[in-house]
This record gives sequence, C-alpha cells and structure tokens, in this order.
Amino acid sequence: MLHHRVCNLCEAMCGLEIEHDGNKVLSVKGDTKDPFSRGFICPKGARIAELHEDPNRLKKPLRKREDGSWETIGWQQAIDYASERLNAVRKTHGLDAVGFYFGNPTVHNYGIMSYTGDLRRALKSKNVFSATSMDQLPHQFMAHQMFGHTLHLAVPDIDRTDYMIIMGANPSVSNGSLMSTGGVKPKLAAIRARNGRVLVIDPRRTETTKQADEHHFILPGTDVYFLLALLHEVFANGWVKPGHLAGLLKNEAELRELAKPFTPEAAAAKCGVPATEIRRIAREYATTDRAVIYGRMGLSTQAHGTLCNWLILVINLLTGHLDQEGGAMFTTPAVDLVRRKKFKQTYGRWHSRVRGLPESEGELPVAALAEEILTPGEGQVRAMITHAGNPVLSSPNGKQLEEAFAKLDFMVCIDVFLNETTSHADLILPPAAFLEVDHYDFVFNHLATSNNAKFSQALFKPEAGQWYDWQIAKALIEQLAPFSGYKLSRMFRWSTPARLLNLGLLTGPYGKWSSIKRLFSGLSLRKLKNTPHGIHLGPLQRRLPEILMTPDRKISLVPDFAVGEVQQLADGLTADVPAPDEHEFLLVGRRHLRSNNSWMHNAPGLAKGKDRCTVQVSEVDAARLTITPGQEVTVISRTGTIRIPAEVTDEMMPGVISIPHGFGHHRKGTRLEVAEASPGVSVNDITDEKLLDPITGNAAFSGQRVRISTE
Ligand code: SF4
Repeated sequence: MLHHRVCNLCEAMCGLEIEHDGNKVLSVKGDTKDPFSRGFICPKGARIAELHEDPNRLKKPLRKREDGSWETIGWQQAIDYASERLNAVRKTHGLDAVGFYFGNPTVHNYGIMSYTGDLRRALKSKNVFSATSMDQLPHQFMAHQMFGHTLHLAVPDIDRTDYMIIMGANPSVSNGSLMSTGGVKPKLAAIRARNGRVLVIDPRRTETTKQADEHHFILPGTDVYFLLALLHEVFANGWVKPGHLAGLLKNEAELRELAKPFTPEAAAAKCGVPATEIRRIAREYATTDRAVIYGRMGLSTQAHGTLCNWLILVINLLTGHLDQEGGAMFTTPAVDLVRRKKFKQTYGRWHSRVRGLPESEGELPVAALAEEILTPGEGQVRAMITHAGNPVLSSPNGKQLEEAFAKLDFMVCIDVFLNETTSHADLILPPAAFLEVDHYDFVFNHLATSNNAKFSQALFKPEAGQWYDWQIAKALIEQLAPFSGYKLSRMFRWSTPARLLNLGLLTGPYGKWSSIKRLFSGLSLRKLKNTPHGIHLGPLQRRLPEILMTPDRKISLVPDFAVGEVQQLADGLTADVPAPDEHEFLLVGRRHLRSNNSWMHNAPGLAKGKDRCTVQVSEVDAARLTITPGQEVTVISRTGTIRIPAEVTDEMMPGVISIPHGFGHHRKGTRLEVAEASPGVSVNDITDEKLLDPITGNAAFSGQRVRISTE
C-alpha cells in the first residue's frame, strides 16, 4: 500500500511516498507527483520510519520519583499533576514565575501550533522563550520594521533568478531556510544552466560552493561591511531603480548619506573580500534583471544580525530585486496567518528582568533564560513548560542552562525523547508523533518558493490511549486559564487543528468562501484530502503594496536603530584591528545533512558513518600549530572548554574554525543510545550567552573569539 504525505522534519516540505503493509513502513521515496518537491527527498526524510519506530521513543507520561527514577502514569493524572504544580508556583510567586520554551519542531507541527497562542494567553507570563532568538529573529524583526508584519518575509525566487548571492547560508545541506524549497542543488544547477551565476560568500567553503560559480572567504561578523559597500556602489553608480515600489519609499537620501563612507576599499580592509571583487559583484548583481541576495543563519546569528538583514532588504529593494520575479518575493499562502489588517507593535513592550533584553512577538531572548531562573528576586522563573526543544544543547552557554533547569521547582516537558533537557523534568508528556499525526504546514507555506497546499493524513494509529500534543495543550490551557483570568472562547472549545485548518483554507486567498467565483472550485480541507500529492497554486506574485502594514503604508529605508549603529561602524573604519595571538580563532557553526539541529543523532541510519562532530581547522593554521588530522584539541572560551578531534581542511578561512551544533548527547539521565551514534560534544558548552545582536537580543554564535590548545 502507498501513503503520500509531506515531510515535516525541516522547512523544505518534501513529498514522501511511503510503502507500508498497514503496520510497518517498507520503504520511503520521494513523491514524484508532488508538484512542489517533484520527487526530491534528503536522507532524513528517507529515514523518517526510524524516528517513528525508535525503541527509545516515549509513549506514556513519565513522572519522576523522589529518587530520580521514572514511573508511568495515566494521561488525565499527568495533566492534573502538571496543572496543580504549575498553579501552585503561580499562586505563591506570580504569573511570571512559570516560563515557557518551545523548540524548532513546534513550528513544523500544525497540531500544537493551533494552540500555542492560547497556551501563552492562559499562562500570561512575560517569560516566554523559543528557538527564534537563536536563529531567525533579525529576519522577523526587519520584516516587521519594513513591511509591518513579522511574517512578511521575502523569499528568494530561486526558480526564476539569474544571479544569486548566498551569504552565511548552506542551502545544499539545510535544503533552504526561510526559503522552503526541496532540492536546492538542482535548482542552483538550473540557474547556471540558464547562464546565470551563483556566488557564495562565507568563511567556510561550504557544500553549496560545489554548486556555485564562485566563492569568497569573508571574516565572520564582517558581512555588514561587504553589504554596506554593495549599497555604496548602488548609490555611487546610479543603480537605484526600485520600480513599482518607488512611491512607497522614504528616507532614501538619509540612506545614501549613511552608505557614503563604505567604499569597497574601506570594506575590504574589514571583511577580507578584495575591493575589485566587491565592485564587480555589485555591478553584476545590480545590472542583472533577475537577481537576489540571500542571507541566512551566519548572518542573523552574529553581532550585526539585524543590520545585515536590513541591508539585504534595502539593497534588493533599491536595485529592483524585491517583489519582482527572480528577486526576493512574498508568498500567497492558502492559509494566511497574517490576519491583522492593522499594524501592531510587537517589540520592546517589556524587557527581561535581569539584563533588560527586549521582548519580540511576546518572547524574550533565549540567551536570558538561564539567568532568569538562577537570579533570585521577584519575577524569578521557578517552573518551566517546554515543547519539543533541547535548549541545553542548542542555546548559548547550554551548561549554564543545564544548571538552571536542575534548580527549578517544577518542570514539565511535552516531548517524545528523554534528552539532555527533558531529563531535568518532573513530568514528561509524550504525544503521538511522526507518522501517527495529520499535518499541514501553517508556517512554511509562508516561506515557500512557489505557492502550494498539501494536507497529510495520519498513516498509523497512535498507541491505544495516547494523546496528541494539541489535546495535551488544550487540557493544560483549560486548567491554567482560570488562574490568569483568560476566558476560553466557544471557538476554542469547538476547535481541533483540522477544523481550524479548514476554516483557514475556506477563508484564505484560494478558498471556497473567498469569492463567488471560487464557491465550487476553491480550496477546502476536503479538496486537499482528495488531492494527496498536493496542489500547485502558481509561482510567486507581486504582493506590494497590497500586503504593506506599516502605520503610514510606506517603507522606511532607514529604521530608527540604523543611524547610530552605522555611524559607529563608520567611525571604526580607520581603527586598527588588533592582531589575534597565534592560538586565537573566530568560531563559526556548521550544519549536517543527516541531522537536524540537536536531534536525529539517535536514528541509526542517519548517525552511522564517520565522526561528524569535529573542529574544522584550515591547513595553514594546522601547519602553524602542528595540529594533525584526528588529533584531539581543546577549544576554550569565557564560558567553558571542550575536547574535540580536529579535521584539517582547505575549506576553512585561515583564522576561523568551525564546529557543528547539536551534538553532545549521552549525558547522565538521557535515553537516546544507539550503537552507531557518535555523541560528540556540545559547541554550546563554549558559546557565550552574553554575545548578542544588540538590537534584537538574538544569540551571536557566529564570530565568537575562542582559543585552541593542543596540550
Ligand atoms: S529536505 Fe527536509 S523536508 Fe525534505 S526530506 Fe529532507 S528533512 Fe524532509
């Protein structure tokens, strides 16, 4: 028998064709009839059955006994226990004493996504955290600043562009991020086949470079100078041509002034890309009709994360490469989460108690979580709810967070694994998951490189009595809401994820209820259920000014924060950079195709093979420090030290090292063992929670100074 569904393990939304016998998966292939992914899948999707069948996957609520061992309890008993303990903390210490953290898989899960808003309102705590602030927060912040909504994220129109500059991103491995698109490699090859060009600017010669025409090393954390020099060239050469957006722009003259000091020569001295190359790239990019700059993790998780994202937007915009075919474009998703017609302030409405970091979209930066638990005083976090996250391995200074979690009065984790974070819980609530749930991508259809809709039905039934995560969320909300005075609506009581999805489809831009014309042919859940390969809704279209939600319906090219920040960079242009000592390096991260952030290292088929948790060192530096391949070295930072084998490679820029994130499993109390898995070490034992993008508070993993010792 064949089952078709979308893979929700990452952002790419690939179609899967699963052969099964009603109980067991026999094979997993790419669905060639899926109009979006057209048969592409990666090794993770091909091994989805290993996650589903993982013998260590939890299926019943686990409560920790006083001696630290676990006992299985019933579902209603577990919900009552969680609510009683959480409400007791709230009664004694106030609403902010309960924190909430949700990890990256939350946004890939339409069940829980349907209720995270209600859960936040029922908790009414200022201490909400998520993986956003160690990832894409600067993108969302700039989308809000320039276009009025955090989800107005412009996506590279990769299928139609002729010139693509990729900065701080490795889409051949990530399969696109904030650019949902299966099969990046063939898409980059297609750009070149139509005589286009692909450029990679990165401190590491990444896997994506193999599909590019050229690669340039850039010093970590200095992308802002490269981008300012591109902007300088755009103004200096009269390449400003924003097309249909011209009437919407304001502050162009101010922006021109800000860019003036950043000549290619001045930028080259800071970033390491030669001035002649900056000039040539600027000319080629600005004079190609269909061109786009795409920046991702390496650019957002650095000290200039917001500035970089702002500059990419304004350069794409001024050169006529925003909201234009082949440039950066906005989607028209079938379920449009941008419901509000009015601009809403979603930044800086409150600040973290200890360090005063700003709130964004109702969340505080995750870099503040440990100190909010460890620092005594009014408003201290004393209990936590987590969903599908492992911040001990994924957030900066994870060791400190581990110490903090151990001190909580109570912790409940909605998760299917006993990992480095959930092992600190008093209670684990493991929902039905993977092939047992139906699915629709609420978020990633907003970020797709074409417009599509696909609904996946559950393949297998969950174990008898097992709850779905949305049922867990609803049950908790019902018991937490009365304490905070959050009134549950009739809609809440009537709703299920499928009902909410159907409503979103019916009233969405292609829905049956969107116009008389579509009454008989428009989208509904029933229609999607009858179309298991998914429905293609057309290429990306121009969306501005229609979707613009800024208060004055204009796009400001110079947001308030930019003037001071850029002035500071200009003032420092002539300052000498002190030479690092011979053991000092700049640290960057790395991602692997066969794992996903801090998980999937326990799937045997994905974990096998050579050790991937290595520190990559350039051949030049290895020769200088007499580091040999495979030699264990110590990497030292303000927050800690790790021992890790060296991988000597010509892929690294001299002076820069790379360590992948998400490793460091097999700590005491976890249950993730498989024979082949390499536990590795956690790079976040040495990353620093004090290093942030100052505008948003996003973690600045990239470009941190560390030392290497060979002793
Ligand atoms: S690229 Fe992402 S969505 Fe596609 S198969 Fe791999 S994990 Fe699944």
